[in-house]
Amino acid sequence: MSDAVRQWIAAAKHLVVLTGAGMSAESGVPTFRDALAGLWAKFSPEELATEQAFRADPQRVWDWYVSRREAVAAVQPNAGHAALAAFQSRHSGRFALITQNVDGLHQRAGSVHTIALHGALSEDRWLDSARACCTADSIEPGRPPRCSVCGNLRRPSVVWFGEQLPAPELGAAEDAAQHCDLMLVVGTSGVVYPAAGLVLSAHQHNARVVMINPEPTELDRVADACLRQPAAVCLPSLLRA
Ligand SMILES: [Zn+2]
Repeated sequence: MSDAVRQWIAAAKHLVVLTGAGMSAESGVPTFRDALAGLWAKFSPEELATEQAFRADPQRVWDWYVSRREAVAAVQPNAGHAALAAFQSRHSGRFALITQNVDGLHQRAGSVHTIALHGALSEDRWLDSARACCTADSIEPGRPPRCSVCGNLRRPSVVWFGEQLPAPELGAAEDAAQHCDLMLVVGTSGVVYPAAGLVLSAHQHNARVVMINPEPTELDRVADACLRQPAAVCLPSLLRA
């Protein structure tokens, strides 16, 4: 099966790779729920990852994200991330990477132009629409940082529960899914929107779909091949020069 997939990769005019939490877990990034341990065990995701929670207690939510940033800073991209970055450097004209992960491990491994559907843990932005006073110079450090003029808060630049995905990224991802002839779906069960929609979109536009995941997934039924391996094992083997 891997040999066939290798041939499909070699022949693909537009290859899209869609990655999810399984890839990060292989690097030791705690899943959202696993991270709700220790000091944070008494909170639910809704108490830490919604706009409402942030407005109610900005310091608590900011501190939670600081702890998540620290957890991510302590781990390294794995061989799967590295294989994708190396492949992109050789085949940039026919390659697009879409990720549901916010940890920045693809970028740290060297991937560029990554379509990050759920934002970036390492970045923050204004909570309310930026006013004229809200500039990089007006940011006053704190938990969270705020505009020294109007008090507008900085918030993590990730998609919280109940929020829309960023339209430019979602549009770019849908465009890539519709125009690829091969999609590799790595480390995601595919039940969470928008992964399922992107995979079905590629499938409906006659792309081959390859699922790379240690466990069976909901999307296996539309897959042309299912490789039940961790990304850090499978991707270096599939994508080597
Ligand atoms: Zn301001």
